[in-house]
Amino acid sequence: MPPSGTLGGGSRQLLKRLRDVMAGQGTGQERLDRIVRVIAQGLVAEVCSCYLVRGGMLELFATEGLRPGAVHQTRLAMGEGLVGDIAAHARPLALADAQSHPNFAYRPETGEEIFHSLMGAPILRGGRVLGVVVVQNRTKRHYAEDEVETLETVAMVMAELVSAGLVSDEEALAAEQGEPMPARLEGIHVHDGVAVGTAVFHRPRIEIRRVVAEDPEAELVRLEAAVGGLQRQLDELFAASELARAGEHEGVLEAYRMFALDRGWNARLKEAIRSGLTAEAAVQKVQNDTRARLAQVVDPYLRERLMDLDDLHHRMIQHLTGDAGRRELPDDAILIARTMGPAELLDYDRARLKALVLEEGSATAHVAIIARALDLPTVARVPEIRDKVSPGDRLIVDGTHGVVYVRPGDDVIDSITTLIAATRAAEIRHAGLRDMPAVSLDGVKVSLNLNAGLLVDLAQLDRTGADGIGLYRTEIGFMVRPRYPTVSEQTAMYQQVLAIAGERPVVFRTLDAGGDKRLPYLSYDEDENPAMGWRAIRMTLDRPSLLRQQLRAMLAAAAGGPLSVMFPMVAEVAELVDAKLMLDLELDRLRQAGAAAPEKLRVGAMIEVPALLHQLPALLPRVDFLSVGSNDLLQFLFAADRGSPRLAGRYDPLSPAVLSLMARLIAEAGAGGVPVTVCGEMAGRPLEAMTLIGLGFSSLSMSAGALPPVKAMIRSLDVRALAAYLDRLIRAPDRSVREKLRAFAADHGIAI
Ligand code: PEP
Ligand code: MG
Repeated sequence: MPPSGTLGGGSRQLLKRLRDVMAGQGTGQERLDRIVRVIAQGLVAEVCSCYLVRGGMLELFATEGLRPGAVHQTRLAMGEGLVGDIAAHARPLALADAQSHPNFAYRPETGEEIFHSLMGAPILRGGRVLGVVVVQNRTKRHYAEDEVETLETVAMVMAELVSAGLVSDEEALAAEQGEPMPARLEGIHVHDGVAVGTAVFHRPRIEIRRVVAEDPEAELVRLEAAVGGLQRQLDELFAASELARAGEHEGVLEAYRMFALDRGWNARLKEAIRSGLTAEAAVQKVQNDTRARLAQVVDPYLRERLMDLDDLHHRMIQHLTGDAGRRELPDDAILIARTMGPAELLDYDRARLKALVLEEGSATAHVAIIARALDLPTVARVPEIRDKVSPGDRLIVDGTHGVVYVRPGDDVIDSITTLIAATRAAEIRHAGLRDMPAVSLDGVKVSLNLNAGLLVDLAQLDRTGADGIGLYRTEIGFMVRPRYPTVSEQTAMYQQVLAIAGERPVVFRTLDAGGDKRLPYLSYDEDENPAMGWRAIRMTLDRPSLLRQQLRAMLAAAAGGPLSVMFPMVAEVAELVDAKLMLDLELDRLRQAGAAAPEKLRVGAMIEVPALLHQLPALLPRVDFLSVGSNDLLQFLFAADRGSPRLAGRYDPLSPAVLSLMARLIAEAGAGGVPVTVCGEMAGRPLEAMTLIGLGFSSLSMSAGALPPVKAMIRSLDVRALAAYLDRLIRAPDRSVREKLRAFAADHGIAI
C-alpha cells in the first residue's frame, strides 16, 4: 500500500472505514480496538494507540502494535511524555526522532523502545481534550503536513465515539467532580453590580451526528449556504442593534463580520470537507484548530480575534445542524461562557439576563464593553467556571468585587439579598441627590465630573447631575473600531460627545493607547513592562501624524466653541511642549482654512509619572489645568503593577506618602493659579475623595456609579475640621491612615 494520508482520496477512504467500524457491532472497547487497527493500516504505521482522559490522567485505552498488556495499565499525567504534551497543549506533534525529544517518557510495559517516529493529535470536543491518538513507526519517518491533518481529522471522528460514552459520563463525573458543594470563585471585575440567579450555559454543546460525508460536493454546497445564511444573520443583528445604531459598536460587529468573508478561513473549511468530513464536522475541525491556537496565544488582541472566530464557528455549526441554540431562558439568567463574541451577547433578551461570568476575557474585551453598555454585572477570568458550575445552579455574581458564589447556602443568599436591597435603597436616595449641589457643610463647593469613554456613558451626565466630563478616554472609541478612524470619523465621534454634553465642559484626553490598551491596527514591539512602555504621549509624539489628526478632529468638533485637551503620561515638560507645538500647527491650519478657533482652548497634562511632579515650576506656566491620574501615578510611585491581584491592597493610597505628595501638588499648583483635578479611581471612593477634598482638591472626576455616594459624603463633611486633622496625619509614621480617617468620618457623621 502506498504511504497514504494525503488529503482527499486516501483520507476519505480511511474515514469511510472508520465510520463503518463505528456504526458496526460490538462494545465501545471492541470498536476502539478495531479503530486503532484501521488507523494503523490507513496511515501505514506499525503502531496506533488511543489514550483517553480518565480521572484526570491519560490512560492507554487501545493499541495496535504496543504490548496489549499495557492497555488500561499505562497512565500518564497531563503534560507527561509526548502524549501528555499533546494533551496539555491541545496540539498535534510529528517527530521523526521522538526519543530525542526532551519530553519523551519511556514506559517499559509498552515495548515502544523500537519505534522511533511518532505523530499524535489531540481528541478534542468543545475545546476540551478527551484524549490523544498516536501513530508510531520503527523508521525515522518524517510525517508530512497532510498526514498530520489526516490524523487530526481521524481524531475528530474518534471524539464522536468517545463522547458517545466510551468513558461513561457518570464515571468521568465521579472522578472529576465529587459532590456538588458551595464554592466561592474569584475572577476580575468587569462591571459592577450584584445579582442572584440561575446558571445558564451560553453554549450548550451541539451534537454533531454526521461526521463523515457521503458526498463532499453536496457538503460544499451546504457550507456555502451556511456562510450566506450567517452573513444575513449578522447583517440583521447589525441593523437591529440599538447599540450599533448609536454608532459606538459598529466597529466591533464589523470586525466580526469580516471573518465570514475571509478567504483563508473559507479555504480551510473546504479543505476539511474534501478530506471527507461533513460541513458541520469541517467547521468543528477548524474550530478545534482555532481553540488550540487560542491556548498558545498570549497577545491579548490576537486572543480577542480568535475568540470572535470561535463564536463564528459556533454560529456556523448551529446553522448547519439546524440547532437554533436557543434554550428557554429563565428570567433570572446568569450567563456562563468560556468567552463570547459581542454580537452573541446582544442576541440575548436583556430583560432576562442578570449577570455574565466568563472563564476568559478581560476588562477591555469587546464583550466587556458591550456588557458595560448593557449595565450587566460581569466577572471575567474565572478559572474553570464551566467545570465547577452546572446549568441550573444557583449563583450569586458580585461584579463589584469580581466574585462568584456557586450554590451558595441560604445564609449567603440572605445576606446578599439584604445587600442588594440596601444598594437599591441607596440608589433611590442617591437619585434624590441629583439636583442637590455638591457643597460641604462649611460651604466648600466641589466640582463633580464623570469619566467616560463611550457614547453610552454620556447618558449618565443627566442621570447623575454631574458638572461635566472630567476625563474622556478617547482611546476606547479607537479600540472598538476595526481600523484607525479617519479625521472625519473622529470628528463625528467628538461632535457627538460635545452635543450630548451640551453646556457641560468635556476634557478630551488624547490617545492613551499602548500598554494594555492595544489598537488592533497598530503594530507594537513587545515591551517587557507595557505600562511603562511605548504608550500614550510617547507613542503619539513618535507618530505625530496620529496626534495631529486627533487634535485636528477635536478642533473641528469644537467648531469655535470651548475645547479642553489633556495629554496623558507626560513624563517631562519637554513632551508637553512638543505636544503643544502640534496643537499650534493644527490651530494654524485651522486659521488658514478660515475656520473658527475654539473660543476658549484649555490645555492640560495628566499627572501620572512621578518625574513630572519634580518639574512643577516649568510645568505650571505651560498648562491651564492638571489632572492626577492616580491609577498610574500610584503604580509608578510604589513600583506596584496596578493590575496585579497580589499587590492589590499592599500599598494604600491613604498613606502619608500619597497624602503629602497630593498636599504639595495642590499647594504649588494653587500658588501658580493652576486648577488640579483627580480623575483616577481614587477620586470615586468616598473615603479617598473625602481625604482629597480635605487636602484642598475641589474638583474630582469618577465613574457614574461613584458620583452619588461621593456627593452624599461631601454634603455631610466639614472640610476645615478634616484639613486640620490631615495636617497631623501627613507626618504619621503609619503605613496607612485609612482606619484613622474612617474613624474620623464615623465620629463626625460623614456619610462614607
Ligand atoms: C489614571 O491613570 O489614573 C487614569 C485616569 O488613566 P487610565 O486609568 O485610563 O490609565
Ligand atoms: Mg492612566
